[in-house]
Amino acid sequence: MLTAKETRKSFLDFFASKEHKIVPSAPMVVKNDPTLMFTNAGMNQFKDIFLGNSPRVYPRVADSQKCLRVSGKHNDLEEVGHDTYHHTMFEMLGNWSFGDYFKKEAIAWAWEYLVDVVKLDPDRLYVTVFEGSKEDNLERDEEAAEIWAQFLPEKRIINGSKKDNFWEMGDTGPCGPCSEIHIDLRADDERAKVDALTLINNDHPQVIEIWNNVFMQFNRKADGSLEQLPAKHVDTGMGFERLCMALQGKQSNYDTDVFQPIIREIGKICGYEYGKNEQTDIAMRVIADHIRTIAFSITDGQLPSNAKAGYVIRRILRRAVRYGYTFLGQRQAFMYKLIPALIDSMGEAYPELIAQQTLVEKVIKEEEDSFLRTLETGIRLLDKVMNETKQVNKTEISGKEAFTLYDTFGFPLDLTELILRENGLTVNLKEFDEEMQKQKERARNAASVETGDWVTVREGETEFIGYDWLEADVEILRYRKVKQKNQEFFQIVLNKTPFYAEMGGQMGDTGFLTNGEEKIEIIDTKKENNLSIHLAKKMPADPTATFRATVNLEKRQQTANNHTATHLLHEALREVLGTHVEQKGSFVSPDALRFDFSHFQKLTDEELREVEKLANKKVRQNFSLEENRNMPIKEAQAMGAMALFGEKYGETVRVIKYGSSVELCGGTHVQATGQIGLIRIVSESSIAAGVRRIEAVTAEKAEELTYIQQDILKEAKNFFHNTPNLLQAIKKTIDENAETKKQVEDFVQEKIVQVKNALVERATTNLHGIKVVVLKGNFPADFVKSVAFQVRNQLKEKMLFVGGTEENNKPILTVALSDDLVAGGLNATGMIREAAKEIQGGGGGQPFFATAGGKNPAGLEKAVEIVVNLV
Ligand code: ATP
Ligand code: MG
Repeated sequence: MLTAKETRKSFLDFFASKEHKIVPSAPMVVKNDPTLMFTNAGMNQFKDIFLGNSPRVYPRVADSQKCLRVSGKHNDLEEVGHDTYHHTMFEMLGNWSFGDYFKKEAIAWAWEYLVDVVKLDPDRLYVTVFEGSKEDNLERDEEAAEIWAQFLPEKRIINGSKKDNFWEMGDTGPCGPCSEIHIDLRADDERAKVDALTLINNDHPQVIEIWNNVFMQFNRKADGSLEQLPAKHVDTGMGFERLCMALQGKQSNYDTDVFQPIIREIGKICGYEYGKNEQTDIAMRVIADHIRTIAFSITDGQLPSNAKAGYVIRRILRRAVRYGYTFLGQRQAFMYKLIPALIDSMGEAYPELIAQQTLVEKVIKEEEDSFLRTLETGIRLLDKVMNETKQVNKTEISGKEAFTLYDTFGFPLDLTELILRENGLTVNLKEFDEEMQKQKERARNAASVETGDWVTVREGETEFIGYDWLEADVEILRYRKVKQKNQEFFQIVLNKTPFYAEMGGQMGDTGFLTNGEEKIEIIDTKKENNLSIHLAKKMPADPTATFRATVNLEKRQQTANNHTATHLLHEALREVLGTHVEQKGSFVSPDALRFDFSHFQKLTDEELREVEKLANKKVRQNFSLEENRNMPIKEAQAMGAMALFGEKYGETVRVIKYGSSVELCGGTHVQATGQIGLIRIVSESSIAAGVRRIEAVTAEKAEELTYIQQDILKEAKNFFHNTPNLLQAIKKTIDENAETKKQVEDFVQEKIVQVKNALVERATTNLHGIKVVVLKGNFPADFVKSVAFQVRNQLKEKMLFVGGTEENNKPILTVALSDDLVAGGLNATGMIREAAKEIQGGGGGQPFFATAGGKNPAGLEKAVEIVVNLV
């Protein structure tokens, strides 16, 4: 029986024997494509080749690609755990032809691999072909059907609809028919009873698709019509975990050696055995699946967060925590404990897991802890809502409440329902759905982008010349209109461009395209599928003209200062803190820089100072830029350059070196470090467990910062008559102030005693033998309170204190009672409510002491009288 590891290898070996170049998996988290957050198919990393933006490097390629299907076009999240063959993250085995072989070879090799190499039973295999489509004016894919017929009987070649058997990259772009291979894994007796043909594409857990072969032969235009592609391509994808299930004779992906080590560990930690109960099994599958996704996205550089890709990862983690919480009784963080088991099963194929184990565990544990706290807050809130519902004799809580819980507190609907059910309540699902719909609409409106077709001005390829030139004569190759949030932009592609397109954390260049009098502003430059796209608010009158392209020089220089400073700070951090410091993110703009790195505690002031000094020393050493645009990656690493996990590198890389700082980097940099002038770190903070962030400024901005600080100092000295020793003067003032405060305090205490004594002396006794003490005049509220308490202390029985005082022209009414009167039924709070009407105010307190503020000082006299008469 083939193990998972052997299976992966056999696939790659097979296609290597068919002259395919075996390439590594691209990162699962996509960094430089605004249209995609995660790799969701093997073909993603080759998109630019299919679109014709980049030339192919090899005509035939094969790999095993980490994929994630949790958002956008492919979202399997809700299935995962409930069924046995969809995962969030999975490996897709694939082979590609870029304008090389087509259907004949692709189909024959797929069959040869499955039947001859890994020896699947051919009688259990079924295939689908595209049946054709009227609206697209397309016939059935007879070509594929005829080739398949050489390998299996006609009746197992099934027609598939446009939905299942016509693949499209997006609304526009390359597309074509596809052929899926399905397998029937049921026992023989069941197969005899029910024909697999009735179960294909019908969500049967043992009759499933394992491999899809896409034949790209058309291009879809924005008006919906199709045109033939000049070069035809093959794109295939086979689910690795599903193949393992078939080869290991299992009924579920989770029963294979890919998942079993993790499932066993979950069982051990939670005290449940897998296979005994459907509900706990689902929970264990969810957790086993999600821990892979979370761990791999963290090693790919995507931490859980509250926006975009980070938020998707956070929600997946929370889904797992919730299943653990609800079905496996986990009230404490536990998922992070699964990482060693995950490393056991996948660490060898994916060494980044081993290298970043500590970080992955810390991040997951912190996320778990924080979500468990959220769950508790949610449960408390839900308790409140349930009580209120029961009080008004209802059994249904509103969908709005459930939605708030879901949206604001991350409290999932099914958990809300579960808790409600335990309390004999339900939720209004219709209302909930309406709220959800409204929110989706809001999100859609915010995100919707309409892109028009490319208008070709002239054929040609684009070339980046911005490392050497900031100005050049250029021509427009093509452009298109883009509408987002009701704003119209134009995306322009040039034959050559000095504009740097946003990448690797460095912002894109801005500037102008000029032709005579006409000046078109370039507001940003971005990369899309490896193509530099210039953003403009309007198009030039004559797009066919030649333009002078000019990059905003000042911004470019400031950006270069900040980018080079980032390299120097990176090196300094590793020197001061240790080599565990690894880049986790960076952002470089003309104004400032931000650098995120792994480190497990807060930097001390001394460490920060040392880092800053070290970096500035390198500035003064004025190292010249040593740039190599085409160095084999092995050679670059031998020089000391670090490849970042989660970055996609070609076989040759660009190396940027200043002194001993060596980095793989595509950014723009200074000619010599002296140009930076000065680097100042302005903040240090934590952005996740084990990840710190520093922010810094350079050159003029650093200079400005020192001026601001200097001005503050000068101003402060002015307050102290330009004393030569500012610190001493401040310290002296603070001490004096404290002393004065203490004296005032003592004085007030004395005064309280004096007032109390005078009042007690003047106290009158009413008909019931109660001593009535009245205070009037201007006093602060807490002064009155202290007097009242002291009177209470002295006259312990049959005592009523009434204060009718003013503070800054605001009336205050105060009532205090001795304990025996309270025991006898009097209540200061009640009395104050009665009387406070006179001063147009309100208040409250306890039965023995209450106060009220008001608006009408003229009513004080009357209010006091009312209180006195109440006893
Ligand atoms: P399905 O209908 O089973 O969801 P699909 O049509 O979405 O599959 P493709 O997009 O053609 O699948 O992907 C190619 C192959 O990747 C599939 O044949 C299958 O083996 C595998 N695959 C797809 N989605 C998943 C998933 N969520 N988990 C594991 N494997 C998957
Ligand atoms: Mg699918």
